[in-house]
Amino acid sequence: MVKSIIKDQLNRPLRDLRISVIDRCNFRCQYCMPAEIFGPDFAFLPKSELLSYEEIERVAKLFIELGVEKIRLTGGEPLMRKDLPILVKKLNQIEGLKDIALTTNGVMLPKYAEELHAAGLKRVNISLDSLKDELFGEINGRNVGVGPVLKGIEAAKKAGLGVKINMVVKKGLNDSEILPMAEFCKKEGLELRYIEYMDVGSTNGWKMDDVITKKQIHDMLSQHHELEPVDPDYYGEVAKKYRYKGTDINVGFISSVSESFCSSCTRSRLSANGQVFTCLFNGNGHDIRDFMRAGATDEELRQRVTNIWNHRTDRYSDERTAETVANRKKIEMSYIGG
Ligand code: SAM
Ligand code: SF4
Ligand code: SF4
Repeated sequence: MVKSIIKDQLNRPLRDLRISVIDRCNFRCQYCMPAEIFGPDFAFLPKSELLSYEEIERVAKLFIELGVEKIRLTGGEPLMRKDLPILVKKLNQIEGLKDIALTTNGVMLPKYAEELHAAGLKRVNISLDSLKDELFGEINGRNVGVGPVLKGIEAAKKAGLGVKINMVVKKGLNDSEILPMAEFCKKEGLELRYIEYMDVGSTNGWKMDDVITKKQIHDMLSQHHELEPVDPDYYGEVAKKYRYKGTDINVGFISSVSESFCSSCTRSRLSANGQVFTCLFNGNGHDIRDFMRAGATDEELRQRVTNIWNHRTDRYSDERTAETVANRKKIEMSYIGG
């Protein structure tokens, strides 16, 4: 396959594609889909609005031709989409794709981990914000204890998938879990990534005061563990990584709020209903589903995606102010994927 390299207005190449396969979720994490808003009457997308697996495969192929090397499947909860391993298999067969990963809350992994691995998935990021049943149940809004996620982690490991753990840290909610989570992951040989709480969407009531920064977490950890910096594995890697000295276990930080990394952001996002977003915080998606369903050719689709990327100027986290937090129209995380 001949790959083109397309660049945006800030000279950033297109390298990663995050695909949200579904906007629904079996959790109601308070920092993502607060239960008060995403209640029983909330209108999720009907099936006809979602991109089919064939449509996702077609779009992914075009993105790969335009430079994408990595695809991450996300949601909502991606394992709630029926037969996800079928999609993994289709994507895995596309020439030119180097890496395919999945972000999940983990509870359905005991059912799907082996099938996903057999379909070609290499690794999963599993979200876990606390090791305490009661607190975790409060955070996920569904009173689900830690057990089902731990079973998911075990199942993923057993199936041969690489596992990283994502922990969103919110002040006053789960900061007491920063050290216990580090101890747990170190003991299990898992890479933990602390994620700064972000002002995604407009429903989570985000305030700057709720953020615990990378520096604060790093300082806390350093009092108990000797950490040494690790070089990024590739250009644009989001997590800043450290290693527990004398081990091969890493710990990472996603410092989107305190140390933004827009200048090397190579990520595009495809929402569950087929809109391309060029930034997690950009409320304006570019339709490609209806264009495709109206009969666009591959060349026309390629042109549209090229045009979208070429016009990209996003650098929201560099520009974040109280004004942007309050007034900018932003897309919900569950819809676009993390
Ligand atoms: N449901 C899956 C899960 O929870 O892993 C995949 C989708 S979720 C939107 C993707 C990632 O975004 C998760 O690791 C989640 O913890 C993170 N996330 C959600 N809301 C966030 C927020 N407000 N700030 C930072 N990270 C957030
Ligand atoms: Fe669901 Fe993931 Fe959002 Fe939690 S973070 S509500 S598991 S999509
Ligand atoms: Fe990329 Fe937007 Fe995040 Fe900046 S704020 S790193 S441009 S997704």
